[in-house]
Amino acid sequence: MTTVLGAIADDFTGATDLAGLLARSGVRVSLRMGAPTDPPDDTAPFEVIALKIRTAPAADAVSGACQALHWLKAAGAARFFWKYCSTFDSTPEGNIGPVAEALMAELGAEQTIYCPAFPENGRAVFMGHLFVGQEPLAESPMKDHPLTPMRDSNLVRLLQPQVSGKVGLVDRPTVARGATAVRGALARLADAGVGHVVVDAVADDDLSVIAEASRDMALITGGSALAMPLPVLCADVGALAERPEPPGTSATAIVLSGSCSAMTNRQVAAYLDSGAPAFQLDPLTLAEAGTQEVLDWLASQDLRRAPLIYATAAPDAVRAAQGRLGAARAGDIVEQVLAACARFALGAGARRFVVAGGESSGAVTQALGVNRLDVGREITPGVPWCFARSGGNAIALALKSGNFGSESFFADALAGLEAS
Ligand code: ADP
Repeated sequence: MTTVLGAIADDFTGATDLAGLLARSGVRVSLRMGAPTDPPDDTAPFEVIALKIRTAPAADAVSGACQALHWLKAAGAARFFWKYCSTFDSTPEGNIGPVAEALMAELGAEQTIYCPAFPENGRAVFMGHLFVGQEPLAESPMKDHPLTPMRDSNLVRLLQPQVSGKVGLVDRPTVARGATAVRGALARLADAGVGHVVVDAVADDDLSVIAEASRDMALITGGSALAMPLPVLCADVGALAERPEPPGTSATAIVLSGSCSAMTNRQVAAYLDSGAPAFQLDPLTLAEAGTQEVLDWLASQDLRRAPLIYATAAPDAVRAAQGRLGAARAGDIVEQVLAACARFALGAGARRFVVAGGESSGAVTQALGVNRLDVGREITPGVPWCFARSGGNAIALALKSGNFGSESFFADALAGLEAS
């Protein structure tokens, strides 16, 4: 099946989020970890490539994104989507602009749009300013992000130092007048030599207007929500392959949690309250004693009860472990143990894997040798069940980034698969 839309995402759970939103349409969506090195084969109408370039230097991000673009072109895609975080995570040295500019050059595109709005998740762009809930980006908790502190809310100002071309804005009053008005504004900006256009959006209807107005652009860029209207727009290229029925997977499951976000802490607490068997990982103990204890515990578990293994901890405990081991080493130790547990569980017959945490999900999929997933129904916005093969077995994976899902996410995920 020829690919109609090729998407490149700057991180793993962002790609899952995007793939889940595209799959809402019922069309077959395939998610690949990293740009494939093999020529395209068995491709889906929507192909999403997950890269790990959010904080990579611009030159590395550009080369990774261009490699992905070449593969997607070879798969037949004619339209492309560059997906980044809905909080526009970047610095003046950030790579959102450089990647967009490089992809435009590859595609011969003279203009693209930037729309990180995700109204369902409280991200809105108004007069070029990005809001997180009711707060401007630079007054939201993002101002203190350890890697990408956002100290300006104005996307036009944030983007300008990242690109060599001119940056402009299509504002919300224009978007409110509909697709024809937006198209007119984009054309006037193009005549003035403006290749990079931030577009306001505060509601889902705005995103539909913007998607319609930009349907002839080879490249559009933004948060995952901008992709929601695309399946309908792409349908006019002909019938698209539908999402296949998920393969049957035995109800033997494991829940692996390496996220320490506030929501994941609540999700772990709720799952413990439900009486699920659980093992808590402590990075300090692991650093001294290794993985044997948790693997012995896992060997004694009934996988039909979906046991939980978690390193999820409150901020003071995380700080204490990081203080003793260093943040990178503490993180690595936990990720390696979660990976070892996933491999062990697979060998012991687990076929359903629920994983909390972006980096943690990357470590687990890598450990399971999974580099391509078929995207199924969403459990909660932004988190679909995905299906893959590992060691000759059909497996199902739910990969959740830190703050996604409600308190009952783990139980919901397991129950949701039963129903599908
Ligand atoms: P999120 O999606 O919430 O950011 P990630 O899995 O991407 O979750 O990141 C969480 C990081 O924290 C991982 O590198 C993980 O190994 C690390 N980590 C998990 N538990 C602990 C802990 N108790 N102490 C220190 N680091 C931890």
